[in-house]
Amino acid sequence: MKQTDICILGGGITALSTAWTLSKEGKQVTICYTPRPHNATQAAGGMLSPSCEADGCDPALIELPVQSCATYPDWVSELERVSGIQCGYRTEGTLLVALHHDHNQELEHLVAFQQQFALSHQWCTRKQLKGLEPNLTRHIGGLHFANDYQIDPRQLYRALRTGLHKLGVTMLEGECRLEMANDQVEYLICEHNKIFAHTYILSDGAWSMEHLPTLPLRPVKGQYLLLAPKEGQETLVNHVIRTPDVYIIPREKGQLYIGATMEEESFDNRETVGATLDLLYHAFQVLPGVYEMVVVEHGKGFRPALRDNQPLIGPHYRSDGTSSNLWFNLGHYRHGIMLAPQAATLLKDALLYQHPIPMAFDQRRFVTS
Ligand SMILES: Cc1cc2nc3c(=O)[nH]c(=O)nc-3n(C[C@H](O)[C@H](O)[C@H](O)COP(=O)(O)OP(=O)(O)OC[C@H]3O[C@@H](n4cnc5c(N)ncnc54)[C@H](O)[C@@H]3O)c2cc1C
Repeated sequence: MKQTDICILGGGITALSTAWTLSKEGKQVTICYTPRPHNATQAAGGMLSPSCEADGCDPALIELPVQSCATYPDWVSELERVSGIQCGYRTEGTLLVALHHDHNQELEHLVAFQQQFALSHQWCTRKQLKGLEPNLTRHIGGLHFANDYQIDPRQLYRALRTGLHKLGVTMLEGECRLEMANDQVEYLICEHNKIFAHTYILSDGAWSMEHLPTLPLRPVKGQYLLLAPKEGQETLVNHVIRTPDVYIIPREKGQLYIGATMEEESFDNRETVGATLDLLYHAFQVLPGVYEMVVVEHGKGFRPALRDNQPLIGPHYRSDGTSSNLWFNLGHYRHGIMLAPQAATLLKDALLYQHPIPMAFDQRRFVTS
């Protein structure tokens, strides 16, 4: 039997960043997780792109990424200092490239939506794009998002795990089961451990409905490719390159991450020919030099997506409207790496200091009258 202030279910970026934030507030935190090889964190590209991703969504989902990306430099440098692990945080920025007229229309549509918000971008001519990235192919123009950065999610994850260990956070691995009575958690079983906590936080990504089947949650499968340069091949790009069809993220040693499919395939974890074709075709169109590269990984992960594709942060409400000792930080869908520090802060401020959670992230938005 173990007694703790806060017990977090899940072992991905969301659970770990929540544990980091709460334990830095002096709370005793225990993490319990069931290993899943295709969790989203290990598959993610790591784009921190508040502007590129701000397309037709709720204003709350524009503000949260902007705030999160603003906290990233300090968050990462503290994590790197405590853990001694570099997170691959890069600030070259992102180019959103139009290869033909339809793409250009999409870019114009995006900019028109973004004009309501203070998101910065700069239109670039073909010549300007070529000046920034000479290996790009013909294109009709594009956008430069100078503030859309990137990080290596696997390095970030390693840094968080090491940092949490140093802060004294316990991580237990095994099958997990919540014992509930009257919509209240009584205790959690993780393998042979029985854990009693003041508060439980559900944060196990697309698998969260195993504990609460009524959650309107689904997995959205994403396949990606990792390419490495052939011997002697130059590094092809330094910016994150996006078109409306594909994105290419430069990694260490000239490697490129090509992502990612969006598939409503439940937990089907097979890698498909169609995904390979699509990803490589679209990557080749914008960056022909990928033809020479070597495929070193074809992977996939399951993004946790709620019905409206917005996160769920805050307390679980019972049918009588009162909150219970179960809390949520999940459903970060395509943005869990980007949102990690600020989603954790939002939860911490609500849990410890009773700050309000925006209704766009509150569980009660799903209640129909
Ligand atoms: C291909 C791809 C590309 C992406 N690219 C980006 C990007 O560029 N930028 C960005 O911001 N986001 C990106 N995302 C989204 C991001 O990866 C997710 O939003 C984020 O990783 C979700 O983190 P999580 O911790 O909530 O879930 P996960 O990372 O899926 O972790 C879930 C955790 O729960 C544990 N678990 C599972 N079942 C149980 C159980 N029953 N009990 C206890 N624990 C359990 C698992 O072991 C795992 O540790 C991408 C996702 C994919 C798939």
